[in-house]
Amino acid sequence: MKTFCGRANPTTGSMEWLEEGEDYDYHQEIARSRYADMLHDKDRNVKYYQGIRAAVSRVKERGEKAIVLDIGTGTGLLSMMAASAGADFCYAIEVFKPMANAAVKIVEKNGFSDKIKVINKHSTEVTVGPDGDMQCRANILVTELFDTELIGEGALPTYEHAHKYLVQEGCEAVPHRATVYVQLVESRRMWSWKKLFPVHVEAEDGEKILVPPSEMENCPGLASVCDIQLNQMPSSDFSTLSDVVKMFSVDFSKPVQSASTCYRVQLEPVKSGKAQIVLSWWDIDMDPSGMINCSMAPYWVKPTSALQWRDHWMQCVYFLPREEPVLQGEKLSLTACRDEYSVWYSLQKARAEEEEHKADVCVESPVCRCRAHLLWNRPRFGELNDPSRTRRYIESLRKVLKTDSVCLCISDGSLLPVLAHYLGAKQFPRHAGSGCMQPSRIDLYHPHELWQAFFKANNLEDKIKIIEARPELLKPSHLEDKKISVLVGEPFFTTSLLPWHNLYFWYARTAVSSHLASNVTVLPQSASLHMMIVQFQDLWRIRSPCGICEGFDVQTMDDMIKESLNFRESKEAEPHPLWEYPCKSLSEPQEVLTFDFTKTVPQHCLSTEGSVKLLRKGKSHGAVLWMEYHLTADISVSTGLMQLSNEKGNCEWNPHCKQAVYFFSSVIESEILSDPTAVTYDIKFDTKTGEIAMDFKL
Ligand code: SAH
Repeated sequence: MKTFCGRANPTTGSMEWLEEGEDYDYHQEIARSRYADMLHDKDRNVKYYQGIRAAVSRVKERGEKAIVLDIGTGTGLLSMMAASAGADFCYAIEVFKPMANAAVKIVEKNGFSDKIKVINKHSTEVTVGPDGDMQCRANILVTELFDTELIGEGALPTYEHAHKYLVQEGCEAVPHRATVYVQLVESRRMWSWKKLFPVHVEAEDGEKILVPPSEMENCPGLASVCDIQLNQMPSSDFSTLSDVVKMFSVDFSKPVQSASTCYRVQLEPVKSGKAQIVLSWWDIDMDPSGMINCSMAPYWVKPTSALQWRDHWMQCVYFLPREEPVLQGEKLSLTACRDEYSVWYSLQKARAEEEEHKADVCVESPVCRCRAHLLWNRPRFGELNDPSRTRRYIESLRKVLKTDSVCLCISDGSLLPVLAHYLGAKQFPRHAGSGCMQPSRIDLYHPHELWQAFFKANNLEDKIKIIEARPELLKPSHLEDKKISVLVGEPFFTTSLLPWHNLYFWYARTAVSSHLASNVTVLPQSASLHMMIVQFQDLWRIRSPCGICEGFDVQTMDDMIKESLNFRESKEAEPHPLWEYPCKSLSEPQEVLTFDFTKTVPQHCLSTEGSVKLLRKGKSHGAVLWMEYHLTADISVSTGLMQLSNEKGNCEWNPHCKQAVYFFSSVIESEILSDPTAVTYDIKFDTKTGEIAMDFKL
């Protein structure tokens, strides 16, 4: 069987459907899965084990047989814990076939085949009865179906069904209960992920302020959860306006309702400020007493010593529909609404008592009306709102633009054309002094309306022309028969996954060559690929074998992940936002390839070989790669490393971009030696495919 996989082509900036064998999907799923991360989550595993032991004892004390239902067994871990704790029989349900197969092997290897039956089905398909999948209903329900938002992986409908059809009344559930906590905060940094702030431009004829249209100001944004490693957010980047409050709880030992509902809590701000963000996380009590608690609380709520790093459960950032000034001690209520899979929040100034008891009017799930939240994702909003980045573009545009410049911008959802207009291209206000092409997203989100609103709000209607054509289809008429004197790009394209995919700018530049004036200025003039060897503080766990987990041999899983990672002949780099994943540099950052945008894309591949010395003591987990754009001879922007503290090798990464991480298949430990260890690399940019292949030898 063949499957079709959507993939952006970095040479055309558009999505293409590639035919892949049936193995492809499956290997992707396994290789990028969170199973390794979960198996390394000691805190989670220990507490599940304690909770399961306690539940089995409670059932046994009642003189009953302990029959366990484990929904979403994965490796079979929780069922093996139950069997070891004395359960009489376990039904281990797993919908994902490769995992169900692995669970069978793991259960057998650990000697539990007679106690655990693995059923490869979705739990809602499981039957009970003499001829069914289960002989009888279970009296212990064990699951781990939670995501960062708790309910995003469908825990509620699964529980609802299980209580109706698969477990006995009064069953023991592990976890017993989940509680969602919230805290109201003000944070310019996080608010900049949702709103576009005004952009100030010092132009020759005075200061210009670029403002977002009113539709954007009042837009609730998107419903999709924003999950981040909140423990990497320094306390100087936000200010807490309320205490931590319990928002709602779910008791998993009783029938669960998945239908949409709202919860409301009273809040009194501990400080006056602008309510913008609701930070949220949850904890689970493994037993009814609440003595076995597994919490996602961030560092300022929980002592650091107790923090367990994990990537499969993080914390949530919710954006209030609009910013609300609040006063210390004022009476507020915060409403959480949820449907089966997601949660959203709104804040109300206190109402009269009687109104409080009125039937809850659920606020609708947020839907972006202004289109900006469809065009720009949250990191992209942050990037556009970054004043020091904007300053560099302004400075470099000021250097290259003249009053009679004909400027073409090629980037998705870029503000550069507006900046370019303010800084030059003034002489022909009635003509298209500045044009912009937005190659990747045109067909998907029709950002045209957004731009019209944007131009209108800033009186730019006839100043900037949006050209809805792919670069290779650009015609002289689009440019009013003028030649382009300044070609600009950030470059940024929404289809890019890895840093070098934005090299699509180079391909587009090549495609529009015939429209460029002979003395054209291209900004950025060039780009460079940089590389550094690092030791991760924690991220290594997601790709590291686990071996034995709480006494159970899960090597079968390790082997499966390894096989999937090696599925492609050459391993691939993967994108990660490294501001969330601290690492220490073990080598100097090194420039490995350069791309000259003043010339067209060459026919031949660009490749480089060399070696990097490991200068610091540590474990080499992998290489990080990123792009730097040289806007002019002396102004650059980095999408990767921003700063490196030389003593300890601590890195500061661009907070708006993902960097490429290439995990080494084996880790080497370097000592400081007079003759430092060297890592050799072989990196090749294939100009035909726009992809970069790499190989490292340690
Ligand atoms: N229980 C394991 C794995 C948890 S990951 C552990 O704790 O280590 C959750 C697993 O549940 C995934 O493998 C997913 O495929 C499976 N799953 C989720 N919902 C399910 C459902 N309703 N029925 C069967 N499997 C489900």
